[in-house]
Amino acid sequence: AVKAQGRGGFRFNTEELNQQAHRGLLIESRLRRAVQTGAFHLVYQPQWCMASGRLTGAEALLRWTDPVLGGIPPDTFIPIAEACGLMPALGDWVLAQACATLRQWRAAGWHDAEMAVNVSPRQLADEAFFRRLTGHLERHAIPPAALELEVTESTLMDSGPQPERIVGAVKALGMRVVVDDFGVGHSSLALLKRLAMDGLKIDRSFVRDLVDDEDDRQICAAILAMAKHLRLRVVAEGVETEAHWRLLRDMGCDRWQGYWRDGQPQPADAVLARALAH
Ligand code: C2E
Ligand code: MG
Ligand code: MG
Ligand code: MG
Repeated sequence: AVKAQGRGGFRFNTEELNQQAHRGLLIESRLRRAVQTGAFHLVYQPQWCMASGRLTGAEALLRWTDPVLGGIPPDTFIPIAEACGLMPALGDWVLAQACATLRQWRAAGWHDAEMAVNVSPRQLADEAFFRRLTGHLERHAIPPAALELEVTESTLMDSGPQPERIVGAVKALGMRVVVDDFGVGHSSLALLKRLAMDGLKIDRSFVRDLVDDEDDRQICAAILAMAKHLRLRVVAEGVETEAHWRLLRDMGCDRWQGYWRDGQPQPADAVLARALAH
């Protein structure tokens, strides 16, 4: 019976693996088409200053809706795009689009709007990346300090032999560079020191249980204390309740982002309307 069960379990797993592989291939082929037809759009998640309540800007987040597969989350399709070499082109489209939106916001009266954009390892390792980046900023007359690049630790580690040089080059252009999903990788502390980062985003896995989990509270407090000493700006992600917001504010967190107060990723117009309403 055990053997039969074992074999049954094995067969089931194989089938599941096959299905996953098949879905991966399907996503890849639809993705190739989507890059050609431009089936992507960006949504923008507001970021607020904790102390003043002011809307400071937004993070641009990529969305893909395929006519056959429906909506696919970026956590699913970005690694596939990365693996099959589509990410430099797609990532460049994201940057261009985010810069165009930022220009519109500023021209419409939100003069100090800031934009954060996620950058993938392949993009950072791409020689032409900086040239295109500079081109987007110039074309849209955006002050570089208004643009912030979000990189994860693995992004930096996969970007080639010299992350220092890459971050140095971005900063030399006047842009800010922050570590995304801080705390979930391997080498956060060494990286902050070595690469002279401008800030970090506390991963939402530390924010989620902040109210009930004393360990998570200690972790957030420690990150914030260290960030203050290193003069890093800290954004908390995944703020979903007033209790999250209050705890993080009292710990000295600079900015927040999350579903609380209708802070979900949303169309550019909606973010602009909220900024101008104040
Ligand atoms: P991320 O950069 O850490 O983005 C934050 C993610 O958390 C977003 O998921 C956002 O919708 C979600 N989120 C924000 N607030 C809350 C909250 O209060 N509660 C919960 N449960 N979730 C919240 P999303 O949009 O699905 O993006 C997932 C990841 O995909 C991003 O994580 C980022 O790493 C990546 N990504 C998205 N757009 C791009 C892009 O244009 N380029 C690259 N390279 N990566 C991207
Ligand atoms: Mg991010
Ligand atoms: Mg993040
Ligand atoms: Mg995260």
